Amino acid sequence: MSLDAFPEHILLTPGPTPLHPHALQALSRPMLGHMDPEVFALNCEIQGDLRVMYGTAPGTFTALLAGTGSLGMEAGFANLVEAGDEVLVCANGSFGRRMAEMAARYGARVRVVTAPLGEAIRADDVAAELAKSGDIRMVAVVHGETSTGVLNPVPEIAELVRDTGALLAVDAVTTAGMEPFHMARWGVDYAYTGAQKCLSAPPGVAPVAISERALARHAARRTPTPLWYCDFEGLRDYWTRQTYHHTVPVNLHFALHAALRAALDEGMAARQRRVQQVGEAIVSALAPLGFSPYVRRPQDRLPTVLALRLPQGFDDAGVRQALRAREISVTGGLGPTAGQIWRLGLMGEAARPGPYRALMRALEDLLGVRGVMERFEAALDGVLV
Ligand SMILES: *Cc1c(COP(=O)(O)O)cnc(C)c1O
Repeated sequence: MSLDAFPEHILLTPGPTPLHPHALQALSRPMLGHMDPEVFALNCEIQGDLRVMYGTAPGTFTALLAGTGSLGMEAGFANLVEAGDEVLVCANGSFGRRMAEMAARYGARVRVVTAPLGEAIRADDVAAELAKSGDIRMVAVVHGETSTGVLNPVPEIAELVRDTGALLAVDAVTTAGMEPFHMARWGVDYAYTGAQKCLSAPPGVAPVAISERALARHAARRTPTPLWYCDFEGLRDYWTRQTYHHTVPVNLHFALHAALRAALDEGMAARQRRVQQVGEAIVSALAPLGFSPYVRRPQDRLPTVLALRLPQGFDDAGVRQALRAREISVTGGLGPTAGQIWRLGLMGEAARPGPYRALMRALEDLLGVRGVMERFEAALDGVLV
């Protein structure tokens, strides 16, 4: 198949997201060596930009891991947890449960705080667990739980963790880069995301930020980090001391650099605004068809992954298949919500009127209804182009 044979595709999934045009352009740069001075200079810019994106303290160590968001998750447990440590995981969806499983594989004694499906973790429940034991090594929480479209109260949880001596690890995959994130102000010790979510870069690198306190805990480990590839010291060999550790995916650094710059140039406030505006327009366009927000409490709704309950009798699989035939990808529910919800991605370049206009138009056509497009445009009227 020739490259020209690929039609334009509209990705409305909760990751990967459509590539930012600057990222796409950066991907076609000629290859440079991973030890090239120009690559090290570019890496420094990435590190500085990541400090801004994560809202870190000055000089905080940031880097890209050569893998997806899950490697960011795994590296946190591998470096900051030792066998026998007690770890408290907030798990109210599949990514929270993935955290609990990873912590257990690194030998942690895992305790879990949960919440009913479609609801946020309650800070009171975290406080109660923290009160039960004085020796928790780490608290881990997913900020935006993609499997259900739920936003967990990270600032409140961080406040509770602050004086316990535990480290706080936050999965920022669906938030950082799209919504304000304040690592230093909140008191987060380890944060990670994946390039292909809010930044609209290709999958394959995981931007991380590691607090001074977390680095100090890592330095005091009794045993070496069992995951050699992502050992924090190994990362610092390359990213700080500019010595060889492993060959980084240079072209993915180019693309991430371009996408991250574009995100910071636009600004988090502007990005947050377009997420909200496109999200509200989708809800008002689809509500008369019987779609309704899946997450009951408005404050629990994750803006970047809009979970919508489907209308009674809606042919979920059939409609999504018909959309795919028109080059539009939409994601359904996961596990217990399969067949019941859609999860519409509003991260990065997906959070624009253009891609959703295509969905509205296709739905009018496939379902034989009118007014969807009109309501969508009316809700957006004048606020976004
Ligand atoms: C996508 C996602 C991950 C995992 O990222 P991969 O890039 O698929 O490895 C982790 N956490 C959350 C909240 C996600 O949405």
